[in-house]
Amino acid sequence: MPCGTQAAADPPDPSASVSAVVGPRPTGPVAHAHYPEGVLIDLHTHSTASDGTDAPAQVVEDAAAAGLDVVALTDHDTTAGWADAAQAATRSGIALVRGAEISARSGHVSVHLLSYLHDPTHPDLLAETERTRVDRVSRARRMVERIGEDYPLTWEDVLSQTEEGTTIGRPHIADALVATGHVSDRSAAFATILHPGTGYYVPHYAPDVLDAVRAVRAAGGVPVFAHPGADGRGRVVPDAVIEQMADAGLLGLEVHHRDHSAQQVARLEDIAHTLGLFVTGSSDYHGAGKPNRLGENTTAPRVLETIEELGTLDVIR
Ligand code: AMP
Ligand code: ZN
Ligand code: FE
Ligand code: FE
Repeated sequence: MPCGTQAAADPPDPSASVSAVVGPRPTGPVAHAHYPEGVLIDLHTHSTASDGTDAPAQVVEDAAAAGLDVVALTDHDTTAGWADAAQAATRSGIALVRGAEISARSGHVSVHLLSYLHDPTHPDLLAETERTRVDRVSRARRMVERIGEDYPLTWEDVLSQTEEGTTIGRPHIADALVATGHVSDRSAAFATILHPGTGYYVPHYAPDVLDAVRAVRAAGGVPVFAHPGADGRGRVVPDAVIEQMADAGLLGLEVHHRDHSAQQVARLEDIAHTLGLFVTGSSDYHGAGKPNRLGENTTAPRVLETIEELGTLDVIR
């Protein structure tokens, strides 16, 4: 069936699941779905496999309940949530894009790189993310030692806030600070004790972002620069670095994100246009850990079609 036939005959109902809207995936050499206008796509969420507060299956079920047609699970430096998320997607009738948010750096500036539909067993990317996850643990322990000099806080307090195998991050230390009564919520922890300016902050290992882009491409993934203009969190990279990333194989920019000002959105749209990168929008949902709501920013259907064409894995539906 040619792309568009179903959309023309049957306008999409945003509350319908994508499998109902799109129909079964065709087979054959150019077997990619057509996503009609109106399909709701959120390409950036976190679960308890990293620093979200809901289990992977719960994130997917909540995304379906929120009326989304497609959701991506993009935990920090891990694909551990994919299997549970995939089962939940099949049960809930929502399509799942398997992804990850790779921690990287440009000099001393932290850069987050979304990877979509990559081979999770590819050795280079796997080795880099494993190295990052291991160093995140020592880094968190060092931060807890520093914090513990001023506030009663132990490593056990942090461990009791994490699931086994999770990618540890500052949000877990924040949860321990909440549980021990030092702060009211994660946001308060990030505004005070966990802020890089306080002296408790310790950086962790992360690959150079150009190497990370190349590793994602080598693994058959589609690399998208996550919240590239989020200057409220810390320093962001200049345009020249985005250009270098594009030369290294970057394919998209996450332009529509709550951490971007209107000026950053305009700047990033210009850059995407100039460099021939596609534009995404996403919630960066972390469950109860952040105010971000599922579907608060979304990605255009034709962009998802591009991602699916370029990625090595299928979208699960
Ligand atoms: P880390 O990678 O360990 O340095 O921690 C960074 C993570 O903390 C990011 O993925 C954010 O999602 C999360 N984060 C940053 N700022 C806040 C905040 N104000 N409230 C809650 N979570 C935050
Ligand atoms: Zn996070
Ligand atoms: Fe991020
Ligand atoms: Fe994120």
